[in-house]
Formats: sequence, C-alpha cells, structure tokens
Amino acid sequence: MTRTPIMAGNWKMNIDHIEATGLVEKIHYTLVDKDWDPKKSECVLCVPFTDIRTVRTLIDGDRIPFGLGAQNVSEHDNGAFTGEISVTMLSKLGVQYVVVGHSERRQFFGETDELVNAKTAKVLGAGMIPIVCVGEGLDIRKAGDQVSYTLAQVQGALAGLTSEQVAGLVIAYEPVWAIGTGEVATPADAQEVCGAIRREVASLYDEATAESVRIQYGGSVKSGNVVQIMDQPDVDGCLVGGASLQPEEFAAIVRFY
Ligand code: PGA
Repeated sequence: MTRTPIMAGNWKMNIDHIEATGLVEKIHYTLVDKDWDPKKSECVLCVPFTDIRTVRTLIDGDRIPFGLGAQNVSEHDNGAFTGEISVTMLSKLGVQYVVVGHSERRQFFGETDELVNAKTAKVLGAGMIPIVCVGEGLDIRKAGDQVSYTLAQVQGALAGLTSEQVAGLVIAYEPVWAIGTGEVATPADAQEVCGAIRREVASLYDEATAESVRIQYGGSVKSGNVVQIMDQPDVDGCLVGGASLQPEEFAAIVRFY
C-alpha cells in the first residue's frame, strides 16, 4: 500500500487572520514555482481558530490545494462551555484535520491520554481527521524508555476506536526534547519510534490498518533535514512548527521529494 506523504504546518499561536493571507499565498506560489504535485505530498495548514474562516475562503477562492486543520478542539458537544470550540463548528468551516494532544497542550493545559482519546473520537465522529500527537520528554529519552512510553500514549489515544477509524488517521511522533529546540532526532531515532508505532497498530488491529495509518515525525524539521527523515520507511510526513512560518522554508519541506 502506498501512503501519500502528509506535510503539516503547525502555526501554533502565531499569525493573525490578516497575516495569514500573505503567508498562505507565499507558500502556494513558491510551491507552484517548484512544480509541486499535491499527489506526491499533501500540504496541510493547522492554523489558529481565528484564521480558519480567512484561510478557507482563500484556498477555496484561489483553488489552492491545501488541507485545512485546527490545532485543538473541545471534547464536548455544543453547550455551556465558555470559550471552547466544538467539532461541529470546525467541520462547518470546512476544517479537515484537527491536531489532538500536542505536547504543548499536554504540558501547559494538562491534557491526559483519556482527554486525547475523547477528543480523537469526537473529531472522527464529526468526519474530520485527527493528527494525534505522541512523544517522550528528555528524561524518558535519557532513560532509554522512549518506545514503551510513546506506545502507551498511542494505546491511550486509540482506545475504543475501530480499525476503519485508525486506518484513516494520522499519528505524529514528536519527541518533546526536539520541539522548537533545534535539536533534531536522528533519522534512525525517528524510524525507531515510528516503526514501533506501526507495529503496535498492527498488533492492536491488523496489518492492513497498520499499512494504512500515516505516521509523521515532528521536531525541528527543516529543509536541510527533511529528505533524510522522509527516507525512513515508517515516516509518512512531518508536523512542522517554526519552519512552517517561513514560506520558502516550508515550501521546500512540502516539496521534499
Ligand atoms: P518545531 O515544532 O518544528 O518548531 O520543532 C514542531 C511542533 O511542535 O509541531
């Protein structure tokens, strides 16, 4: 089975809706210049909530073949949850992907595996694709426990999901010590854990599900290291933070092939 590479930009809490227009257009025309083929690598932008409407209108109006993602969502249905955003609201805006359980949400907003699981199920239930983030911190890596730690997060996030649901989702392996630090996991480090995640999906579900699920690496991905990372057999894409705010750099990452 061939999995289409998926390169997702995570803008985090950067770029207002006015800046977003310029950034999306610059990424797009740089990719056009580079003869990018969306069938060879999917480009997804995970933007702040306040940018979603603007980016949707722009990519529809200019027929820009980018996927649109949000960075978080509530685990609740519409109701009395002041300040929250529901899956219904996102899907009505044409959002296709939702980042769930990013390490910054786990670290700063106390998101647990149970919450990540509830959000993942909600996103799937609304017909969108979760990008489920997992990955170990520096202490776990130093102890050599990165595989067992990350697989426990995968089990937690996928609990109760069907094989059809898992086959269609994206898992992002992001070692926390490599996020925003310039410290990149080696391609072999990325493969070690991404390969283990795929084997875990095979054992929890079946081979076909494991062959179909897309697994990203994230953590200080740049144009200079993307090729070696994408060369790994179990890495199907990248989740890109800092470099996704630089249009030429991000376009080079998307057009890695
Ligand atoms: P980074 O962030 O590329 O800036 O390391 C990755 C992420 O947090 O998704």
